[in-house]
Amino acid sequence: MPELVDGLDSKSSAFGHVGSSPTAPTSVMGTYNRLPVSFVKGKGCWLWDTNGDCYLDGLAGIATCALGHSDRALRRELSKQLGRLQHVSNLFQIPEQEELANWLVSNSCAEKVFFCNSGAEANEAAIKLSRKYGHIKRNIEKPIILAAKASFHGRTLAALSATGQTKYHEGFKPLLRGFKFFDYNNIQSFEELLCQLESDGPQIASVLIEPIQGEGGVNPGEKIFFQHIRKLCNKHQILLIFDEVQIGMGRSGNWWGYQELGIEPDAFTIAKGLGGGHAIGALLVKEKANVFSPGDHASTFGGNPFACKAGLTVAMEIEKRKLLSNVQKRESQLVAGLVQLVNDFPHELKEVRGWGLLQGLVLHENTAIKAPMIVKSALDNKLLIGTAGVNVLRIAPPLTISSDEIKKLLIRLRESLISFQ
Ligand SMILES: *Cc1c(COP(=O)(O)O)cnc(C)c1O
Repeated sequence: MPELVDGLDSKSSAFGHVGSSPTAPTSVMGTYNRLPVSFVKGKGCWLWDTNGDCYLDGLAGIATCALGHSDRALRRELSKQLGRLQHVSNLFQIPEQEELANWLVSNSCAEKVFFCNSGAEANEAAIKLSRKYGHIKRNIEKPIILAAKASFHGRTLAALSATGQTKYHEGFKPLLRGFKFFDYNNIQSFEELLCQLESDGPQIASVLIEPIQGEGGVNPGEKIFFQHIRKLCNKHQILLIFDEVQIGMGRSGNWWGYQELGIEPDAFTIAKGLGGGHAIGALLVKEKANVFSPGDHASTFGGNPFACKAGLTVAMEIEKRKLLSNVQKRESQLVAGLVQLVNDFPHELKEVRGWGLLQGLVLHENTAIKAPMIVKSALDNKLLIGTAGVNVLRIAPPLTISSDEIKKLLIRLRESLISFQ
């Protein structure tokens, strides 16, 4: 399957580049390498394609469909909301927005919430907030934001500039200035950069970092590293901002990724899992990072009644159905099964890493089998999984997945691997 390997350096994410889609003419701009399948129906962890074939969804719309597909509560609440009110704009008070913000503040370390529509937008807000904080709290003329290599913060220009992967930058220079990069989980690299920049007075406004890197290859943050940068940020009055767009909202088995690290950020962003598949993002801040005034930032659609009702329903259902505990149990089961696969395919598979229901199955770099080829083979076995980076398979099923479905997922993944032997 040589054509499957060509696309490895392509800038696609999630599914990787697995060869071109069918050549049917399309009016849609060619920004994605799509797999040759389209779905017409979903229920829980299952999706049906146009031929009526049924697939097990181990990717959940790239970690968005926290409650699975066509969830009953979400259908009920959103149908009611559609019939009641859909959009009014932020010129007015929005009770659903207040309610979701109250829930988020009551269930996290944050004190205030700004709503937008996506992960990149939430990070844009965090970047603007960093700069304002730098100007007004630290008196920095040109505030710098530190970010990690191999990070991913989104495709809009500022979020892209904060993304520490050059492959996403190609073709889009000049990027925004004011971002500097250190090695993830590397105390020495972080300290060196910080000392170099702060030696002649304040320059750094914030550190923007994922508690676990998602697109960059499912790299979990290390406690010792994060606790150290927390101390340094306190000492230098630098904001520590977490990008929890992928891990936040229960995917780790806790509500927030920072809980896995035993520290609290000064601000954090969320999006993917929040709306259960509907467009919503948010920037959450503690009081010390609450520096926006009226007029500083805005979004026409952000926090509309429909999106906020989706977020609230996801939160209520995760609570009511004790899904955090389900994530923890399914994590143990999934990881045990994946470790077994690593033992059984030692030439292809290297290790398993991740938190909760965001798991990466890491391939050896020197084998002929590449992650996108396994994604394709899994698709043939009616299993949806993704890639993260070049040689990591990403597994991120709905938080509602059952024990029996995890078993099926592991069986189908095994068959997908066997087909290469
Ligand atoms: C997906 C993702 C983003 C970008 O989110 P969009 O909604 O696609 O803009 C940003 N940060 C992280 C960690 C992500 O996983």
